[in-house]
Amino acid sequence: MLNSVTRMGELELIQQIRARVRTRRNSSLALGIGDDCAVLRPLRGHELLVTTDFSLEGKHFRRNWHPPRSVGHRALARGLSDLAAMGARPLAAFLSLALPREMAAKRAGRRWVEGFLSGLLNLADAHQVPLAGGDTSESPSGLVLADIVLVGSAPSGRSLRRSGGRPEDLIYVTGSLGGAAAELAALAQSARWPRAQGHPHLYPQPRVRVGMELVRRRLGAAAIDLSDGLSTDLHHLCAESGVGAEVCESSLPVSPEATLAQAIHGGEDYELLFAARPTVRMPRSIAGVPITAIGRLTRKRQVELVDENGKHRLLPPQGWEHFRSSL
Ligand code: ADP
Ligand code: MG
Repeated sequence: MLNSVTRMGELELIQQIRARVRTRRNSSLALGIGDDCAVLRPLRGHELLVTTDFSLEGKHFRRNWHPPRSVGHRALARGLSDLAAMGARPLAAFLSLALPREMAAKRAGRRWVEGFLSGLLNLADAHQVPLAGGDTSESPSGLVLADIVLVGSAPSGRSLRRSGGRPEDLIYVTGSLGGAAAELAALAQSARWPRAQGHPHLYPQPRVRVGMELVRRRLGAAAIDLSDGLSTDLHHLCAESGVGAEVCESSLPVSPEATLAQAIHGGEDYELLFAARPTVRMPRSIAGVPITAIGRLTRKRQVELVDENGKHRLLPPQGWEHFRSSL
């Protein structure tokens, strides 16, 4: 299938990417872009953590909605957030990119790729994670497809897992909730991006340093990142830990623009949800990010929301799919 014209396009694109990537390596990356493989050299006593995430046009973003910088930023943010959830330090990122032929050939297409790379590489720089390789291909479907692989490391046996929670642990979240869903909902209504502060949907900030601190200071027992929404992700953590949970409605750090429902069910905030033993003295903020206690894990195998009057009701997992119907 490959003819020499598309191979030329690919090579040019790889050159374009390579030119944009600063050669700055971190101490664990011995060899980056340019050879058949990258070479990683993790610290002694550490283990590797690997995560991969698709960003597919029409499913995770729309080319006529999302600025290209946002698409690149979000593609990397999702993987960084997975590493953050386990308390890992990011070592290297890999990008597999499939682009429609007309994008490689036309100036507007090249500009889109420039924007995409800017968004991705700015976030990579902010977290000191080098783009260490990838693959490039023409997309026969006419759609942009990007797959990101992230490799991180953590002290052996110390990474945070969903399964580490116990009854009576306290539940915490970082930052605020619902902002991403609110921003997306506002876009769907007005067909233009609202002037949201920090643009939580377009440019979410993965909590990499918080996750690493939870491990380093032995503060966390279990964690998950909030990609599908609090109600869904809390169920995941509870299922893996074999526990239930009580969430105190009035404690939730709802984003100023968001409704309570968006904070509870809206996805893509990329905050961390974590559990800690009740004896742990939790700081009010970690790495500059506010930390809020929102409830506790219970022996009863169900997730409940407790209102101001102390009334309990079941909290069903209603995240993501429910809210993203507009995408
Ligand atoms: P191969 O034929 O071995 O797959 P390629 O020509 O695809 O080699 O890639 C050459 C180099 O460029 C490799 O080091 C590869 O990791 C890197 N590379 C290719 N595509 C990308 C991309 N989209 N992002 C980052 N690096 C890439
Ligand atoms: Mg290749």
